[in-house]
Amino acid sequence: MATKSPAYRRVMIKLSGEALLGDQSYGIDPKVIQRVAAEISELCAMGVEVGVVIGGGNIFRGAGLAEAGMDRITADHMGMLATVINSLALQDALERLGATARVMSALSIHQVCEDYIRRRAVRHLEKGRIVIFAAGTGNPFFTTDTAASLRAIEVGADVLIKATKVDGVYSADPVLDPTAKKFGRLSYDQVLNDKLSVMDATAIVMCRDNNLPLVVFNLNNGGDLVRLIGGATLGTQVGNELVAKGA
Ligand code: UDP
Repeated sequence: MATKSPAYRRVMIKLSGEALLGDQSYGIDPKVIQRVAAEISELCAMGVEVGVVIGGGNIFRGAGLAEAGMDRITADHMGMLATVINSLALQDALERLGATARVMSALSIHQVCEDYIRRRAVRHLEKGRIVIFAAGTGNPFFTTDTAASLRAIEVGADVLIKATKVDGVYSADPVLDPTAKKFGRLSYDQVLNDKLSVMDATAIVMCRDNNLPLVVFNLNNGGDLVRLIGGATLGTQVGNELVAKGA
């Protein structure tokens, strides 16, 4: 048990499917998912209520399949099912660590996991169970970023935590542009006006209109998730108040 009280009571974590790839080009790296599960279960041990939304980009993305000629709606159904696969893998990894987790899907797959029912999800969270929200919003043409903001708002999360491969939001891709500047704090309107790649615009507007704070951090820095929830200033914070640009 942590001695310091956490900065948040209930959090929603968005993991992209890519975060589970490790060094692979497809699928789930068992070492990576186990490490991520260990960090998430540590949050529970701190007394934080944790919801997780996982993407499916490590398996299928609807837009990519549609570009290759597939019907977009079928492709998005495949993308949503990919998120269910990832969610089950995370549930398994968490349970192997002794945590209690429940996958709740926006598409009904009764033999595999629970349906998403908001009141039931809130009850699981109150009981200290990690809830993994699968199948995105359940609708084609949306993303799991939008699902994460939607579920965070629905269950009353204090913050949406977006895990990425870089340590925050930059003015340009820091891998391609060495002059790219990291932002310490941003407003949602700055993100939208400057077209900063944080999440898609639908997800950002949902957060802005419902006053949900967002923190973007680097999942590859082991321990940062726990430090962040413990109150450390990490990554980029996005909120509604207009804040100065720059780290
Ligand atoms: N998807 C969808 N509706 C949703 C969420 C996701 O149709 O509400 C589909 C869409 O095809 C998407 C795929 O699921 O490409 C995987 O989700 P996403 O691209 O958000 O995953 P990530 O990039 O986070 O790995």
